Parts: sequence; structure tokens; C-alpha cells
Amino acid sequence: MKGGKLIIFSAPSGSGKTTIVRHLLAQSELNLAFSISATSRPRRGKEKNGEHYYFLNVTQFKKHIKNEDFLEWEEVYRDNFYGTLKSEVERLWAQGKNVIFDIDVAGGLRIKNKFPDKTLAVFVKPPSIDELKIRLKKRSTESDDKINMRIAKASVELATAPQFDHIIKNYDLETALSDAHKLVANYLAESSFKKDE
Ligand code: 5GP
Repeated sequence: MKGGKLIIFSAPSGSGKTTIVRHLLAQSELNLAFSISATSRPRRGKEKNGEHYYFLNVTQFKKHIKNEDFLEWEEVYRDNFYGTLKSEVERLWAQGKNVIFDIDVAGGLRIKNKFPDKTLAVFVKPPSIDELKIRLKKRSTESDDKINMRIAKASVELATAPQFDHIIKNYDLETALSDAHKLVANYLAESSFKKDE
């Protein structure tokens, strides 16, 4: 697989990574396109198929696993599979884009390991687990059980932060957005001088 750069944002759910990724997508000079993941989790709120996710049922998802169609996949929560289809990254590379991912910690590190020379992996750190709880409750798109499941996973995910290229602290959103923009712009500028990429 050849093509543009891969920019990964991983973080516990509720850390604000989606807001950061959306902000970066709006900066046209970065030439980024969003990698739409496949998932077997139910649709939330106003989410659209083919825009936020490719929504599949568990059987369809498992068929793609069997066919080795995924660059990476994870059962992020029980029976909720998420994965990056190889065809998705190829689709965006064919458009001459750098690809940006909003994916979980394990998936992010897996892609980083597959493409170490063309990937920037960023971990977004929330101020605290308590603050995460408050943010997830405010979002109020899910039951308390689901929120608690996300919180339990967050503690494990926080421990992986040192394996990423950079950690952005999302304690103040404006600062986090500006830090993320600088980081990605610098990475794209530096790495564009490397051969083959
Ligand atoms: P949500 O259900 O809130 O949309 O996503 C739950 C978690 O799954 C988030 O941490 C999100 O970043 C992650 N996720 C989304 N797409 C993918 C993917 O393609 N692969 C992996 N490994 N995780 C994903």
C-alpha cells in the first residue's frame, strides 16, 4: 500500500478526540480525509451510514474478518466490533489525501506498527477519569451501563499513552485544537521531504 500519510488520534471515549479530528479536517491545507470505520454497534442519534461509520451486522463484520479485509479491527466493547477496511484507506489514498483516523488505542497502535514510517500516532489525554464521566453523561446518548463500560476501559487505555508519538492534553479545548493543528502541520511538512512517501 502506497500513498499519503496516516494521522491517528486515539483516546478514551469522551476525551474530545472527535472534536479535534473534525477541527483538523476543516483545515484544507492539511489535505486530510476521514477514514470511515466499519462497526457492528447500533447507530447513535443522527449518525449516517457511509458518513460516520459503515454500519454492519455482526455476521457481515465477521465475514470481512474472515476475508482479511481489515487493516485492523477490535471488539472494542462486547459484540461491538470496529475496524478499518483496507479498501477505505486505499479509496482515500487514491484521492491523493492524507488519512486521519479516530480509532481506539489498540487499533491506533496496530496501524502505527504496520506503517511506522508514514504514521503520526497521537494520544489525547483527558484531565481526569471524573471529568470523562461528566463529559460522557452530558453527551447522554447512552445508558449508564454503557457509560460505565467506557469508563472502565478508559483506565486501561490511559496506560498506553507513552507508546504514542505524542500526547495532547485536552484540558482546555482551544489549546488542544491549536496544539493538534501545529503538530500535524509540522509532521506533514517534515515527512514530505522523505523519499517514497
Ligand atoms: P464510538 O462507539 O464512541 O463511536 O467509538 C468507540 C471507540 O471505538 C472509540 O474509541 C473509537 O475511536 C473506536 N473506533 C472507531 N472506529 C474504529 C476502528 O476502525 N478501529 C478501532 N480499533 N477502533 C475504532
